[in-house]
Amino acid sequence: MKRRHFFRKGAQGVIAASVLPIVGDLTAQNGTHENVSDANWNSETIVNKNREGRQITVDYDVAIVGAGMAGICAAVASARKGNKTVLIQDRPVLGGNASSEIRVTVNGVQNLQNEHRVERETGILEEMLIENWYYNEQESYPVWDHVLYDFVTRQENLTLMLNTQAFEAVMDGDKIKSAIARQTTTETEFTINAELFIDSSGDGLLAAMSGAEYRIGREGKSEFNESFAPDEPDNWVMGDCIMMITKDMGRPIKFNPPSYAIPFDHQTAFKDKHRKIKQIKEGFWWVEVGSNKDIIGEREDIKRRLLANFYGVWDHIKNSGDFPEAENIALDWIGSVPGRRESRRFMGDYILTQADMEEYRHFHDTVAYGGWSLDEHCPGGVENLTEPASYFHSRFKQVYEIPFSCLYSKNISNLMMAGRNVSVSHMGLSSSRIISTCALMGQAVGTASALCRKHGVSPRDLGKHHINELQEQLLRDDSYLPNRPANDANDKAKKASLIFASSTLSGDVKNLTNGIGRKEIGKLNHWESNGLNAELQLEWESNVELTSVELKFDTNLQRKIMMHKNPAKNKGQVIGVPPELVKNFTVEVRLNGQWKVVGNVENNLTRLVQVSFDKVKTSAVRIKLKETHGESNIKVFEVRCY
Ligand SMILES: Cc1cc2nc3c(=O)[nH]c(=O)nc-3n(C[C@H](O)[C@H](O)[C@H](O)COP(=O)(O)OP(=O)(O)OC[C@H]3O[C@@H](n4cnc5c(N)ncnc54)[C@H](O)[C@@H]3O)c2cc1C
Repeated sequence: MKRRHFFRKGAQGVIAASVLPIVGDLTAQNGTHENVSDANWNSETIVNKNREGRQITVDYDVAIVGAGMAGICAAVASARKGNKTVLIQDRPVLGGNASSEIRVTVNGVQNLQNEHRVERETGILEEMLIENWYYNEQESYPVWDHVLYDFVTRQENLTLMLNTQAFEAVMDGDKIKSAIARQTTTETEFTINAELFIDSSGDGLLAAMSGAEYRIGREGKSEFNESFAPDEPDNWVMGDCIMMITKDMGRPIKFNPPSYAIPFDHQTAFKDKHRKIKQIKEGFWWVEVGSNKDIIGEREDIKRRLLANFYGVWDHIKNSGDFPEAENIALDWIGSVPGRRESRRFMGDYILTQADMEEYRHFHDTVAYGGWSLDEHCPGGVENLTEPASYFHSRFKQVYEIPFSCLYSKNISNLMMAGRNVSVSHMGLSSSRIISTCALMGQAVGTASALCRKHGVSPRDLGKHHINELQEQLLRDDSYLPNRPANDANDKAKKASLIFASSTLSGDVKNLTNGIGRKEIGKLNHWESNGLNAELQLEWESNVELTSVELKFDTNLQRKIMMHKNPAKNKGQVIGVPPELVKNFTVEVRLNGQWKVVGNVENNLTRLVQVSFDKVKTSAVRIKLKETHGESNIKVFEVRCY
């Protein structure tokens, strides 16, 4: 093969691997690569031709901007419900603040304490966290990136565009018609048409360009009667932050600070009990820099101030003599992409506030929940040592509800939001920004997008006329909604005349159809077998038509499941697939008195398993639960039949 031919083929291969389906279109539509002749390979003409060829229009049902945990959950939910979905992410990796580029811990509601520990989030987020323990017991952040990459790229109906920033909105009245996006690695500009857009990008550039109404800064006390808000509104937002990881070298390691390090005023800093150096394994959340001007526009300057302050703190740790335990410790990784806590908050029909959270207000349109404390970091961060690093204003005893009307724009009719950029007050964001809470919002809007298309309505009208259907779908897909048990009229398990089990150690088989798929205070909501190889059987008085059996197993929602930068924080966790989870089982239906296997699941890794099969008319279903990932009994929370 001639050298030039080799390069030509090679170049196509590389491009095709990055965004397969789209570049297929590019070559077919424009013939750009095929037209390159040997004679003009290096000429100016080709560069120009390529530039034209690198403007591509693509059509999707739903476009999601930003692939933090909220965006991933939105995209997967949308694609699973049949929408042709695109997920646009401006970084080379997925996960946003939780990615290897930033390394924020995926926290959620599980830190709350009440009668029993509050149970953590389920649904798509939990699937990814369990998969991470399956592939990544070594707790490597770069491997976590690729666990997410596999999770997203194997999803049918979902196209991922990495290194692609959505920076402009083309409008049609009050609707976004297209997002204009640039993929830096392929020099390609995309016009992305979609019926619905979800902005889960944190900063919300696309939403802002569409003219969606937003706020930045802090509301004054009186606006929402928020006792922890400042007396007067101002522009302060919580700060950006970089993280670090160290390693023990087993011998003394010197540290020479870079020229731009800012000396750390430890005496003033340590007057606040939260601004402490309790560990030297990972970063310090209080080494943050905020803004009361333009946190987005100041990004590069803030990054430098963050690094300068961080190195000042590390210099103090290594060279003050106050931390002898740091003698052998060396910096191993320091973030170069600051994580962001707060910028634009896009306004929906409702703004969730401190009072809503503290009163645990019940909303008819609840689609998610949160429970992190009102953890409002101080204005200015490490540049303002006169205030505490964070006002942990108050902790919650139970989870609060997040209504759907906070998750769509009040003035752009086909725009939804998920993550830290939703319609909450600054004080509300001090809690709702937590990653697992953001992920629940993502699953909610991704699911909502499919129902909007099914009924041909806007998100607002979906909320008005079809909220029950949205909530039922979320519950079916293993979201949990506080004070809202499932009651799906299509679920035939509820109509079974008899449900029985081979043995019962705790709980009751009646719990399997009570609509609550987890433990709640004072309510077990499960059935537990006595030993393995347990069986469940459902009987109907007359034949029912079935195409699927769906089960919710036990993954021990009271035990944390996320990865940490500092392994000491994994205390009490199981590093691996939850041992309680059912691993192997079969589903059988009774046809003319004979049992027929319609589903055989092996090495199961998910709490929710939906076993689909060709339509049968049957009067009984038998589920043979053979093995768990370690436990000697089997616990099930829900059985549904459709
Ligand atoms: C230092 C720090 C510590 C924190 N500690 C915790 C903690 O311990 N636990 C916890 O749960 N939360 C913590 N938080 C908060 C939490 O990380 C964020 O609130 C959360 O990540 C927000 O999730 P998201 O999906 O909305 O946005 P992100 O995680 O920011 O993801 C959004 C993604 O969209 C991309 N994007 C942005 N603009 C565009 C565009 N125009 N086009 C395409 N892509 C775009 C971004 O690059 C990013 O990858 C912390 C935050 C910081 C900064």
